[in-house]
Amino acid sequence: MKSDKNEKDKVIDFLKYAAELLQKGKISDPKLNAELILSGILSCKRFDLYINKDLILGREYINKLEGILERRLRSEPLQYILEKTCFYGYDILLNDKVFIPRQDTELIVELFLSDIKGKDDIKIYEVGTGSGCISVAVAKELEKLQKKYYIKAIDVSDDSIKTAKINMKNNNVNEKNYDIEKIDFLKLTSLDNFFNFIISNPPYVPFDEYLFLDDEVKRYEPLYSITDKKDGLSFYIKIFELLFDCQYNFILFLEIGESIKAKIESLVKYYGFKNYNFFKDCNNKFRVFKLEV
Ligand code: GLN
Repeated sequence: MKSDKNEKDKVIDFLKYAAELLQKGKISDPKLNAELILSGILSCKRFDLYINKDLILGREYINKLEGILERRLRSEPLQYILEKTCFYGYDILLNDKVFIPRQDTELIVELFLSDIKGKDDIKIYEVGTGSGCISVAVAKELEKLQKKYYIKAIDVSDDSIKTAKINMKNNNVNEKNYDIEKIDFLKLTSLDNFFNFIISNPPYVPFDEYLFLDDEVKRYEPLYSITDKKDGLSFYIKIFELLFDCQYNFILFLEIGESIKAKIESLVKYYGFKNYNFFKDCNNKFRVFKLEV
């Protein structure tokens, strides 16, 4: 009989072994997880694993991979284990002090980019930047479009400021075009009229819904980045209050949770804003709110 070592020292065998282990551990998408773990550690594309399927993994790699599998089996998110993820095609370094960028959030970037066609001198204020993923994607895409732009990204957490700065730098965003600053948005008393766009994916999950989220989220991701510990509306209300008092024009792109759409709609009516729209994602769910004032 083959020894345990021999059974998984080829890439293809380790993939099979890892997927089976993860499946037994009730981790969803076990095969995908196994591929992501292996490609993450080998710094290659998932596809390359199959091209190099007979490659022999050294003992050092096997030990490292076993450690990662153990963490994943305890439900630690893969993005935290690998300390990175990909957002809108850009590499984002991560740590467990910041929210994990979601693919859903790419929609806000896409809608923003289709809105700025034909516009120039774009000045964006990003509220709650977390890992900095939205600002990185927006900056890089605006550079590709050769647009003149400036981004100010804020967050209440020191860890987020540190991480967002690293991500902007690692993605070679021109330093002259952005500023990342620690600011508690909920305590802000006015908006800087230098800016003409506001983008945000704020913590919008109502606390009573937060309690029912997966353990993987509750146990590992920072609570403050997901919920305001109230009805999920704190950030929207603050933005609307500041805009209500302000004499200047802004275009807002905000990510929303489907469950709070109706509440946001009644808030918008309460403040008397007229020019607004909700956008659906590919699952037919309303996930982005655009407002022009
Ligand atoms: N802007 C970041 C993201 O979308 C962080 C969001 C947050 O912390 N709520 O991933």
